[in-house]
Amino acid sequence: MTTRPPLSVRPDLDGAAPYVSPQFPARYRMNTNEAPYPPPEALVHEVADEIKAMTLNRYPDSDASGLFEAVAKHMGCPREGLWIANGSNEVFMHLFLAFGGPGRTSLTFEPTYPLHTLIPRIAGTRTVQVQRDGTFAIEVADALEAIERERPDLVIVCSPNNPTGNVEPRATVEALLGAAPGLVVVDEAYGEFARPEHSCIPLLEDHPNLAITKTFSKAWRLAGVRIGYLLANPALVAELARVRLPYHLSAITQVVGEAAIRHARDTLDMVRAISEERDRIVSELRARSITTFPSSANFVLFEVPDPAATWQRLLDRDVLVRIYTGVPGLERCLRVTAGLPEETDAFVNALDQALAAA
Ligand code: PMP
Repeated sequence: MTTRPPLSVRPDLDGAAPYVSPQFPARYRMNTNEAPYPPPEALVHEVADEIKAMTLNRYPDSDASGLFEAVAKHMGCPREGLWIANGSNEVFMHLFLAFGGPGRTSLTFEPTYPLHTLIPRIAGTRTVQVQRDGTFAIEVADALEAIERERPDLVIVCSPNNPTGNVEPRATVEALLGAAPGLVVVDEAYGEFARPEHSCIPLLEDHPNLAITKTFSKAWRLAGVRIGYLLANPALVAELARVRLPYHLSAITQVVGEAAIRHARDTLDMVRAISEERDRIVSELRARSITTFPSSANFVLFEVPDPAATWQRLLDRDVLVRIYTGVPGLERCLRVTAGLPEETDAFVNALDQALAAA
């Protein structure tokens, strides 16, 4: 017997479906943009030793001082200009709990990462979406018009954009920073796979209304640990402490994060190999006259005539990719994560068979 819950959900959550990233058993898991390489062995050994010596009966350092200091030093930013949480998704949640919420509005440029709309909604924020142009770039005139009309408290840019892979020109972000009445947040979750000159980090110095989010889940190969961070001016960062829960970073998270920074060079060493696989996927697809979109991330978006059938045929051959049916502008698109050379080979072979079967 099913029983009705004693209370109905908040009316503004009506129609907000739980986020799911569909998972299916497959040998080649090329659907969630993680790194296929485990973190360096030395890092794992050090963490294992540290965990053995821990007093897990005690609460962790609530300020995660060691981790904050290590990340600040690595990024060359002041400790006060840094915020760390359990993945960049939680960083976004903190941003919206502190700066969004009832009576406030956020603006996104679609298609983009769906959590950029879902997280504000969970925090009670009104969300407005503007479509990107045919190349998936933000159309500056459209953006400025929407900013003028909606006066959004937060404008969210994703660069490189998930799932399209393109980077936003810095000039676009500067135009948004000049026009926005509130914050501009640039999600650089995939920034390590792009050319350094595409990062908006240098804009932080002159723009107190800019926040940049980053993650340990992609290039740092630590998606399972849940560490993300934000760089912004210290006055903005100070407000985020109001909305975090006590001891939000576990003792284990803190030691893994610190170890990752100690092993930063080895950990990030695979970025180049992964980027090469991304470029190989693009050339293999182009060689088959398949439309792809330029990517500065660790994945490639491409178009096929019958995405549902192609997706299934790939899965039948043990290759799991992401499908976008129902997403405006991406109706014929699939997205594949770049990783190991043998994953690229498996994907290309499976795709050849899938297209031959069509
Ligand atoms: N931003 C973007 C653009 C992403 O694609 C993802 C993960 N897919 C995230 C943020 C969230 O990353 P995490 O919470 O693991 O840091």
